[in-house]
Amino acid sequence: MPRKTKIVEIDCYQVRRELVDYMEGDLTPELRIRIDHHLQNCSHCTAVYDGVRNVVRLLGNENAIELPQGFSQRLYRRLFRVRPVTAKEQL
Ligand SMILES: [Zn+2]
Repeated sequence: MPRKTKIVEIDCYQVRRELVDYMEGDLTPELRIRIDHHLQNCSHCTAVYDGVRNVVRLLGNENAIELPQGFSQRLYRRLFRVRPVTAKEQL
């Protein structure tokens, strides 16, 4: 189903929800660009991104275990408790 491209910056909640896919390169180029842009301007999301990346990399390197599909997403949710952010909280 076609989606219209909106020229709207994505918010922190969206970025964090997509971070794992972003790391795994499993995003549309358009969404990737938006996240790139957001990370350049949001130190908090950058910190979250670095944290997730480090954890995933460490786990991935240790004993070369093959992680089941979806593992990183579950890990991410457990670590960072992704939840919707209200408009008030974004201020
Ligand atoms: Zn952010």
